[in-house]
Amino acid sequence: MVDRHGRNINYLRISITDRCNLRCRYCMPSAGVEKLPHVDILSLEEIARLVRIAAGAGIRKVRLTGGEPLVRKNVTRLIQYIKEIPEIDDISLTTNGILFSAMAEELKAAGLDRVNFSLDSLVPEKFEYITRVGNLDLVKNAIDRALSLDLHPVKINTVLIRGFNDNEIMDFADLAYKLPLHVRFIEFMPIGDLKYWNRDNIITSRETKNMIARRYQLAGAKKIRGSGPARYHKLEGGQGSVGFISPMSNHFCAECNRIRMTAEGSLRGCLYDKREVDLRQAMHHGASDEQLGQIFMETIKHKPDKHNMNNGWGAANHRKMYQIGG
Ligand code: SAM
Ligand code: SF4
Repeated sequence: MVDRHGRNINYLRISITDRCNLRCRYCMPSAGVEKLPHVDILSLEEIARLVRIAAGAGIRKVRLTGGEPLVRKNVTRLIQYIKEIPEIDDISLTTNGILFSAMAEELKAAGLDRVNFSLDSLVPEKFEYITRVGNLDLVKNAIDRALSLDLHPVKINTVLIRGFNDNEIMDFADLAYKLPLHVRFIEFMPIGDLKYWNRDNIITSRETKNMIARRYQLAGAKKIRGSGPARYHKLEGGQGSVGFISPMSNHFCAECNRIRMTAEGSLRGCLYDKREVDLRQAMHHGASDEQLGQIFMETIKHKPDKHNMNNGWGAANHRKMYQIGG
């Protein structure tokens, strides 16, 4: 379905849990995270019903995220449900990878098409520092597993933070050269645990790209499956590519094709727009498929033309990224 700004909105990101087995410093506090009670989150069957209705409003791609989607019980059953919806042609997952290896085969068998891993450091101690509890080997194994199961394109999301991982940019580029991986460098956004965020810590995509271009010849930018706002450059002679996601230095909103649903069933037009519609309440009050479909269409129609992230997050938003779904 095309919105008021001429964008074809066909992508739904669903947070299936607000819980996580890591505590990345920029995302969650170390303790005292308020968790949604189980009764307040959508059941798997409710999510599947809403995806079916969203498909009727033009949604074709679904991404499961969180929190950490793989801590949700029976996530494979949810993937099976979604796979049965004929209009949905792409099911993907954004994960920290910790639990992935053990579940990889059943996820693929259930119908998972591809996977994005979040990985901010290739140094075990630094990985443990930024995630507070994570084990880098588990994520490395997960990435190998995804490659061996052909869950292509396998993407890596790396949030760049000055003073933390700017000295690893070339190591990530080398990884994309050696392996058929698509490494996406993401500008640090003022979302999540803002104690850690600082404008001076943002590394712009332009800076990152210039650095990589000193070692590698970057082929012209192109889109790859499910690439959304990222532009990818193949590394000449290498296997993979690097991509740049620039929410802070360059509005990509004109190309945004997504809407979001939170774990408790609120629909959002934009990560940065605090307006939400409560689908779960509507369902519990007996809303018909048609009425719910109308809510999807209204949300798409009123999707804001752009975010205002550069004006800060704070007061405008009562939610964190792990609650909305990153
Ligand atoms: N737990 C899963 C994971 O980490 O992949 C999915 C949810 S997580 C919130 C989704 C993505 O949001 C991760 O790649 C994470 O790095 C990114 N993210 C969280 N806070 C961010 C911030 N302040 N700036 C940029 N990216 C952020
Ligand atoms: Fe968990 Fe993902 Fe947030 Fe890290 S970024 S704390 S893995 S939800």
